[in-house]
Amino acid sequence: MEILVAKRIGFCFGVSRAIQEVKTILEQYKEVYIYGELVHNNEVMNELKELRAKVINSLEEIPQDANSKIIVIRAHGITEKEKIVLENNFLKVIDMTCPIVKNLVSLVRQKQKEGYYSILFGKADHPEVRGLKGNVDEKSLLITEKPLNITFKKVLIVSQTTMGEDSFKDFIADTIKINSFKEILVKNTICTETLIREKETLELSKKCDLMLVIGGKQSSNTKKLYNLAKERCKRTFYIERYEELEQIEIYPSDVIGIVTGSSTPIVELERVVNYLKSL
Ligand code: SF4
Repeated sequence: MEILVAKRIGFCFGVSRAIQEVKTILEQYKEVYIYGELVHNNEVMNELKELRAKVINSLEEIPQDANSKIIVIRAHGITEKEKIVLENNFLKVIDMTCPIVKNLVSLVRQKQKEGYYSILFGKADHPEVRGLKGNVDEKSLLITEKPLNITFKKVLIVSQTTMGEDSFKDFIADTIKINSFKEILVKNTICTETLIREKETLELSKKCDLMLVIGGKQSSNTKKLYNLAKERCKRTFYIERYEELEQIEIYPSDVIGIVTGSSTPIVELERVVNYLKSL
């Protein structure tokens, strides 16, 4: 058996700095609130909860004693309105919105000021997109995964940071084909982390007999890697924990490729590799 692990593994930069910040606050203050799940990974969240991190998922859940508590905003970011409410209620708000997400928001804002109508290729219900929507001029923004007819002539086309690059390219081409814009500005705002993981998944899935994609079942970036791998390698499996390997048929002659989502801890990858080596 041969095991090929992708080079880009474990938490991405944005997730890693948010987790580190929460741990640092916990060391100092013994308690912290997080606005929304910090990562789509049960094991990581359970570990943080055991250390007394508490998650609230909406403004309605703000605790009575918030004025003596600290709250952390996760990497996806939130709307300005939500942030103001948190600031008015909590002792301190620590904004760990990923700088790459912040850059996307700034770009859309700036170009809207310059008169561009913004088309965002993304999922309307994704937390990053919901946050962006609340931080820019909504009337001058279209969020869509499908190319649509648009009456505006001067447009900016950008993407949610975690969308697939090929799908974004198709979206741009099809949007241009069905519209008659006078001025188009296209910016590839997909995060480099996403691009690298996607590229490695494609390369590995072409040459491996079996692919393991490790990550939380709610993680959209892990799901995307799974779909990419599955297109090229029929024996692709999406697992969250190494115990799930017991259900998978693995042969001694298999070349096994392993990739992880950006919210998957390295320790889970190590457990998977150790399990495979023990077979
Ligand atoms: S995937 Fe990219 S944009 Fe999203 S949190 Fe990680 S580094 Fe930031």
